[in-house]
Amino acid sequence: MTKYVVVGSGIIGLYTTFNLLERGVSAKDITIVAEYLPGDESINYTSPYAGGNFSCITDDDPKTLQYDKHTYTNLAKLQTELGGPSCGLDRYVSTEYWDTRPSNEKIESLASYLQEYQVINTGELPKGVAFGIRFRSWNFNCPKFLSNFKDYLEAKGVTFVKKHLTHITQAYISSSTKTVFNCTGIGAHKLGGVNDTNVYPTRGQVVVIKAPHITENVMRWGEDFATYIIKRPYSSDQLILGGFMQKDNWTADTFREETEDILKRTTDLFPKILKDNPSGSTIKDLEILRIVSGLRPSRYGGVRIEKTQVEHYKYLVHNYGASGYGYQAGLGMGYEAVRLALGPDSKF
Ligand SMILES: Cc1cc2nc3c(=O)[nH]c(=O)nc-3n(C[C@H](O)[C@H](O)[C@H](O)COP(=O)(O)OP(=O)(O)OC[C@H]3O[C@@H](n4cnc5c(N)ncnc54)[C@H](O)[C@@H]3O)c2cc1C
Repeated sequence: MTKYVVVGSGIIGLYTTFNLLERGVSAKDITIVAEYLPGDESINYTSPYAGGNFSCITDDDPKTLQYDKHTYTNLAKLQTELGGPSCGLDRYVSTEYWDTRPSNEKIESLASYLQEYQVINTGELPKGVAFGIRFRSWNFNCPKFLSNFKDYLEAKGVTFVKKHLTHITQAYISSSTKTVFNCTGIGAHKLGGVNDTNVYPTRGQVVVIKAPHITENVMRWGEDFATYIIKRPYSSDQLILGGFMQKDNWTADTFREETEDILKRTTDLFPKILKDNPSGSTIKDLEILRIVSGLRPSRYGGVRIEKTQVEHYKYLVHNYGASGYGYQAGLGMGYEAVRLALGPDSKF
């Protein structure tokens, strides 16, 4: 008797399902249908490859700022529900630098809710940096968090079905299915009945190293580069080094010159990676565990959160296009998608 189908088992589909439960929808009425589920890996499944933390990467339009804020301020509740930090969601200090000062709207919004927020003195900024802040962030161990999130939802009674859809209408799996949430990420480009050509990949490559001596994040946003260092919680000391933001690049391949560039930029930005490395102080001494690439599901016009009617009493709610911020904005995106489906909720 599935009343609600969520297509997609990436972070956006899981957050959307969590929001449905929060609104009192019975887990027995929800089915998640996805080609790839937590534990799977594919270039068409972005979520396992995210850094992933809460950063200041997002745009500064009012809606995106609100999705970020909602997520940041509600993650503690989700963390508790999933059993605490060992679910793969913990907190570390983050230092962020911009080569161009962000808009006042963005800075004011961040300052209003980020915990331990402080603006870094101009004299302490690295050369070429115009503005910097420090705050307490949220860090995800993405593969572990996705798996624990799935286990949690299954234990509540949500059904997972592994299936590739060629057309969105196939998601109406029973006569009682009245609402489908389309959380297909980059898949929205090809999925029949959606075929959103505004969706495009922003490819990234990351290098995962072993670094027990690093317990914080450092990010720098340049004009034509993004350099980031992200501590991965509950991972036996993994540190994620990135990255690239390559628009319209669909390749899953990884490249040696990109790895070398990432290692150079991250160790220049945060010399402690080499200086305190227990295995030695040169780039060659770093223990590389993994090199991967992923496709951020970007979209011209920004995220699509929209309700449409497909036939009498049957609705389709789109929720995709989270680009480089699905983990940090997605709980708010899911909240908005569920609000469109069920109507406003005075609780939040
Ligand atoms: C290198 C890199 C670093 C990143 N770092 C961060 C970070 O630090 N913080 C952050 O917030 N975000 C980060 N991101 C972005 C984040 O990973 C994405 O925004 C997020 O994973 C998108 O999730 P999604 O659920 O929309 O898509 P996906 O994870 O791709 O999930 C899509 C789901 O839809 C299913 N699907 C698609 N088409 C079909 C179909 N036809 N039939 C059936 N199922 C289908 C798939 O199987 C899958 O289950 C990063 C991304 C990359 C690549």
